[in-house]
Amino acid sequence: MIDIDQLMFKLEKNNPGQPEYIQAVREFLESIEDFINDNPQYEDSGIIDRIIEPDRSHIFKIAWSDDEGKVQVNKGFRVQFNNALGPYKGGLRFHPNVNLGVFKFLGFEQVFKNALTSLPMGGAKGGSDFDPKGKSNDEVMRFCQAYMLELWKLIGTELDVPAGEMGVGTREIGYLFGMYKKISGQHSGVLTGKGIDWGGSQMRNHATGYGLIYFTAEMLKANNMELKDKRIALSGFGNVAWGAAQKATEMGAKVVSISGPDGHVYFENGMDMEMIDYMLELRSTNEDIVRPMSYEFPNVQFRQNKKSWEVRCDIAIPCAIQDELNEHDAAILVANGCKCVVEGANMPCTPEAIDYLKENAILFAPGKAANAGGVATSGLEMSQNALRYQWSNEEVDKQLFTIMKRIHDLCREHGTDEDGKIDYVKGANIASFKKVANAMLDQGMI
Ligand code: GLU
Repeated sequence: MIDIDQLMFKLEKNNPGQPEYIQAVREFLESIEDFINDNPQYEDSGIIDRIIEPDRSHIFKIAWSDDEGKVQVNKGFRVQFNNALGPYKGGLRFHPNVNLGVFKFLGFEQVFKNALTSLPMGGAKGGSDFDPKGKSNDEVMRFCQAYMLELWKLIGTELDVPAGEMGVGTREIGYLFGMYKKISGQHSGVLTGKGIDWGGSQMRNHATGYGLIYFTAEMLKANNMELKDKRIALSGFGNVAWGAAQKATEMGAKVVSISGPDGHVYFENGMDMEMIDYMLELRSTNEDIVRPMSYEFPNVQFRQNKKSWEVRCDIAIPCAIQDELNEHDAAILVANGCKCVVEGANMPCTPEAIDYLKENAILFAPGKAANAGGVATSGLEMSQNALRYQWSNEEVDKQLFTIMKRIHDLCREHGTDEDGKIDYVKGANIASFKKVANAMLDQGMI
C-alpha cells in the first residue's frame, strides 16, 4: 500500500521552499491512490518514486545589457522532467515570480498533460525571472539572445522542444529561434510557437483557448447541459483567455468577465467580437492592465481590485496563474449559481477551492486535461516540421477538436464512478499516469 504522507514528508524535506511542486505532487498522488493500490506493479518497481522526481533541473546565469548600457543579470531555468513518451516538451515562462519550485510544479503537470494529448511528447518547463513588463523591444531581443546562448546546449528536436508560456509569445520565440539558428546553423523544429511563415503551425495562438472551450462543451454535453447562452467568467486577458473568449462567443455563450492583476472588466451582455479583437491590442501594450477596455466601450465596467469570480456566471474559467481561485472565491461562485469550473491556467485553483467545489457538486476540470490544446497543437507543429509541410487552419482545428474530445473520453473512461458521475481530476490523472508509468516499465530502470 502506498503511504502518501511518508512519501510527501520525504519530498518536502528534500525540496524545501518549493510549495507549488509539493502541492502538485500531493494532489496528483491523492487522486490516484486507489488505482496505485489496485495495481501494485507500479509501486513494486519504484515507479512512484521515479515519476515524481525530475530527470534533471538546469539553472543558469543570463547576463544582458539594458538600453542604458547597464549590465543586468537574471536566472534561467529548464526542468527536464520526464521523457518516457517522447522528447521533453513544454513552455518557457518569463515572469519575476518564478523559481525552481514553480518550474518543477509546471514540469510535473506538463508530463501528464502531454500524455493526455496522446502525442509522443515528454514533459519539461523552463524560463526566467526576467520581467518583460516595461522592457523595450531591443531589451527583450537582447535578453532572448542571451538566454538562448545558454539554453541551446540543452535542447534539440529529438531531445527537448521548448515553446512559449506566460511572457513568451511569437515575438520572443522569434528572437530565441533566431539565436538558436545562428549558433547551430540549423533551421529546425527545435521550438514551437514559431511564426506562420517560418515553421509555425496555423492555430497555435488560438489553440489553448479553443481547446478549452471544446473540452468545456464536451463536459457539459456529458452532463446533460450545453454551452449555448451560458454566462462565462474568465480571468486573465492573455492568449488563453482571448482564444477562449473568441471560441465561446462563436459557439453562442456570453463571456461576462475578463481580468488583469489590477481588477476585472464586467460585460453585462457578454463580449462581442470587436471587444475580443481589442483584447489583442491591449495585450500587445505589454502593460498588464485591462482598465482601458472600459474607456473604449461605454457599457463596460472596470472594477478595481476585484476578481472575475464575483459576477453571476454559469461557468468560471480561470486562465491567469496558479492558485488564483481560492476557497473564498469558490464559495462566492457557488452562491452565485456557478455550475462548472474549468482550469484554463496551470493549477489556478487551490486544493481547498477544489474540495469546496466538489462538496457542492460543481463540475470541475483540471488544467492538465482542459488546457492541453496548446501543447497538443505544439505537437502538431512538430509533426508538420518533421514532414516539412504546413496544414491548413481547418486541418489543424479539426485535429485539435479530435484531441480534446479524446482527452474528455479518457477522463470519462478512467474517472466514472458506479453512479455514472465523472470525476475529471481522477480520470485525467489515472489515464495519464498509466501511459507514462507503463512506458517507464517497458523501458526499464533508467
Ligand atoms: N505552455 C503551454 C502549456 O502549458 C504550451 C507548452 C508547449 O506548447 O510546449 O501547455
